[in-house]
Amino acid sequence: MQVMNKPSNQATADNKRLKLRAALVGSGIMASLTPAMHEAEGRYHGLDYKYEIIDITGDQYRGKKLADIIFKARNDGLAGMNITHPFKSEVLKYVDEVSDNVRALGASNAIVFTGEKIVAHSTDFSGYMRGFERDMKGCNKTGILLVGAGGGGSAVAFALASLGVERLLIYDIDQGHAEALVARLEEHVPGISAKAVSRLDAKIMASVDGLVNATPVGMARYPGMAIDPDLLTPDIWVSDIVYFPLETKLLATARKKGCRVMNGSGMAVYQAVHSFELFSGIRPDAARFEAEFERLIADTNS
Ligand code: NAD
Repeated sequence: MQVMNKPSNQATADNKRLKLRAALVGSGIMASLTPAMHEAEGRYHGLDYKYEIIDITGDQYRGKKLADIIFKARNDGLAGMNITHPFKSEVLKYVDEVSDNVRALGASNAIVFTGEKIVAHSTDFSGYMRGFERDMKGCNKTGILLVGAGGGGSAVAFALASLGVERLLIYDIDQGHAEALVARLEEHVPGISAKAVSRLDAKIMASVDGLVNATPVGMARYPGMAIDPDLLTPDIWVSDIVYFPLETKLLATARKKGCRVMNGSGMAVYQAVHSFELFSGIRPDAARFEAEFERLIADTNS
């Protein structure tokens, strides 16, 4: 599915201490663990790898336009960039090529500078898929309720569709977001049954095998749960893509009720694994990324 154009500034395994530059651009991202994960893997491969944060809420970049940030990064020799909130859709205006899944979901969180071209990928899509395969082996997944239809939720929806989910119910506080995602799924995934729902109740919960939270509710700055806890029953599994904190109120509540749960670590780790490969051309060791992520989370909590 992924377009594998070779980055112009890509490192190679034979090229020790090769310089590699990448960056994450977004809003309120100074605490992101992504740079540390990338740089640790780079050190392992003997690269001189610097992964920068470009936070548009900070003094240095406030008021700067996304287009200017991207073109400057390319001129400065970066191999690629991760893109996060609020730019995952806007970035598509400035790219030359998109992978199939980016075309379908209408958002990208990773761009690669390949010679004259800028190519957009979704490692959120591949990251959720791989995380799900790691953590949810053997679970029932015929029908799923997705809560939150923004950038992350869209990647989750298409990943679930690629994993064979037949029926998706989508709830978003902004009904237009849910309806737009349903339209995209119907256009790009033959045979899927996707439906936007305007409220959550026990009847809907009884019709699904699992539930995914892809809203920011549960993050330290948006505490609480997007779902009424009384709607959780032990026969459904619960996945949360929030990873600050890893144990959200939703997961803690679901765990107490006896539900199988999956936190946001898999998506966070595997999107970084895939992005590293896109930027460097080197196949990273996913287990090393996982270990580094756990170490960083433990540091954050200590
Ligand atoms: P976004 O702003 O693009 O989308 C959020 C969506 O949730 C919006 O459509 C919004 O209307 C909806 N929403 C908000 N509150 C709601 C509520 N109470 N009930 C129903 N819908 C509600 O944000 P995003 O980029 O999709 O990120 C969402 C969360 O996912 C963030 O916490 C982000 O950090 C996390 N995320 C994690 C990973 C990972 O690697 N684990 C990757 C991407 C996003």
